[in-house]
Amino acid sequence: MLRFDIITCLPHLLDGPFNYSIIHRAREKGLLEVNVHDLREFGVGKHQQIDDYAYGGGAGMVIMVEPIDNCLSKLQEEQTYDEVIYMSPDGEPFTQKVANELSLKQNLCILCGHYKGVDERVRENLITREISIGDYVLSGGELGAAVMVDAIGRLIPGVLSDETSALTDSFQDDLIAPPVYTRPANYNDWPVPEVLLSGHEKKIDQWRQEQSVQRTKERRPGLLG
Ligand code: SAH
Repeated sequence: MLRFDIITCLPHLLDGPFNYSIIHRAREKGLLEVNVHDLREFGVGKHQQIDDYAYGGGAGMVIMVEPIDNCLSKLQEEQTYDEVIYMSPDGEPFTQKVANELSLKQNLCILCGHYKGVDERVRENLITREISIGDYVLSGGELGAAVMVDAIGRLIPGVLSDETSALTDSFQDDLIAPPVYTRPANYNDWPVPEVLLSGHEKKIDQWRQEQSVQRTKERRPGLLG
């Protein structure tokens, strides 16, 4: 059982992603728990303020330390986190390897930034890890958090059935997955490779392996050590 607590100032952005398909089923089965916490509830003053202008000037608001500290402290009264992760474009790149590693944890907290990001003192003192989902800038960490929960959630033992096993997916063995086909065997004069119709298990495995290696060479040569 893996529990995620996600801290965000836009909880409704996360209304959809965890309520369908594999991730939804994982939650139903009790293998995955996802809780979304509204940072605004921890805002300061009568306006429940969560952001302010940047010291030194410049465009864009910065999320303040205090609401984040208050929210985290409250959560940490009941949870001990394996990691408190800040979503950040300059963080460690999120890869299948990181997903595998995090799928073995029990309690993960994800902090989503917004605007110009969070006060640097949050990053220095309150979190344990910083993760980026790619070299581009999003308007908030929520979509990144959804990407991580999805990629990690489907790796939890019992979430995927045998026929959708994560072991045959791309990156799992530093190879890209081979191409897949389904009925009909010929559509529009676009035939399915003969070997897949042969019923010859060994030849099929061999073909898939060759395709994987070839694709990896073409598309992700960096994976081949
Ligand atoms: N000023 C910051 C970007 C802030 S974007 C900079 O230039 O680095 C606002 C928030 O979106 C960030 O605090 C972060 O939580 C999230 N975010 C943006 N891009 C991201 C990415 N590639 N991966 C993960 N989170 C990202």
